[in-house]
Amino acid sequence: MSIKTDRLPKSMDCSAEGIGKPRIERFAEKIWLSTPTMHGDEMKYIQQAYDSNWMSTLGENINEIERLVCEKVGCKYAVALSSCTAALHMAVKLAGVKPGDRVFCSDMTFAATLNPVVYEGGIPVFIDTEYDTWNMDPAALEKAFEQYPDVKLVVFANLYGTPAKMDELQAVCEAHGAVIIEDAAESFGATYKGKQTGSFGKYNTISFNGNKIVTGSSGGMLLTDDKDAADKVRKWSTQSRENAPWYQHAEIGYNYRMSNVIAGVVRGQMPYLDEHIARKKAIYMRYKEAFCDLPVSMNPYNADECEPNYWLSCMIIDKAAMCKQIRSEEEASFTDGAGKSCPTEILDKLAEYNIEGRPIWKPMHMQPIFRDNAFVSVDGDVGADIFERGLCLPSDIKMTAEEQEAVIQIVKSCFM
Ligand SMILES: *Cc1c(COP(=O)(O)O)cnc(C)c1O
Repeated sequence: MSIKTDRLPKSMDCSAEGIGKPRIERFAEKIWLSTPTMHGDEMKYIQQAYDSNWMSTLGENINEIERLVCEKVGCKYAVALSSCTAALHMAVKLAGVKPGDRVFCSDMTFAATLNPVVYEGGIPVFIDTEYDTWNMDPAALEKAFEQYPDVKLVVFANLYGTPAKMDELQAVCEAHGAVIIEDAAESFGATYKGKQTGSFGKYNTISFNGNKIVTGSSGGMLLTDDKDAADKVRKWSTQSRENAPWYQHAEIGYNYRMSNVIAGVVRGQMPYLDEHIARKKAIYMRYKEAFCDLPVSMNPYNADECEPNYWLSCMIIDKAAMCKQIRSEEEASFTDGAGKSCPTEILDKLAEYNIEGRPIWKPMHMQPIFRDNAFVSVDGDVGADIFERGLCLPSDIKMTAEEQEAVIQIVKSCFM
């Protein structure tokens, strides 16, 4: 693996006295939020696919990563697909969503968590977020079942690699006879009470998108303990061919299977999952320590219950330390105040230095496309508040401690 350490601008001053106006120059090479980290074996398995001519959606790499992921997550069946979005679509079909059916969905997440509900004609009802893990609030979910007792499916994500409140969410779903789809796209390798995420729903999904903790450049998987479900997804994802001498179709098909070349990349990455988590955790902990005297906190988790994979390090600014920030549908502006800041100021400042940050996922109930969908919350609008005050910090595995120190100084300077 090649990690560049020579990217730091020469005149950088990292001393604590250096804060105020940081004497840091714009980075010549961008510091990214999260990019692929390759190790070499990826090419070996791609080459094997090439040399054996299994340049298709069949082959040893696919078989092997399905086996490896089952072993890691502790599930019985894994079906490798072209993306996690495709896996979520298959999960929604397995759950039997019909046009007009309401489905309870995470509100503060990437839209891919719930777009597949809409593909099938379902109507997402958005469930507010809680402050402890930034995931679906079990109390809001309970309230939603009171309003819509007929709902039979809940789709939730584990945001930024932090497991949701699994016991509470499962208890609510069980009480109302609802099936769970767990979108573990961001949390592969994270555990809740010792159990891997991607195993808490009836149907679960992970992603190998380029910015995820292990990548195939793209790709995803459906995970389940239900053999019948796994068999269905293998069939649907390869155009739903019936067992006949010709192309016989009794069901609608999809071209969703993973390529054996992509699977080679995933296969090369799999042995490094734990290392990637350790390095993401080190990044998170460095931010946490460095920000202890700022009016901010990191994206939270309960260490007694779970171990995140620390995919993205995020921070949230204390209410009292927020300067005035205005966000329209497409633009943002702010008015700086002494000792105060806001995500817009910090993101602008990072961009000036060629550093990539990102706002928190804008809640779905705030999106124009979902204007007419219901939103259920117990106490105000937690998602809107986290979106207003939070941001994602550069969390790239290849970022050096020195580079991260520069990021930290720039963030600190925003509160001067
Ligand atoms: C990345 C992501 C997805 C989609 O994954 P793809 O493999 O890119 O389709 C779905 N849900 C969440 C929460 C994600 O972060």
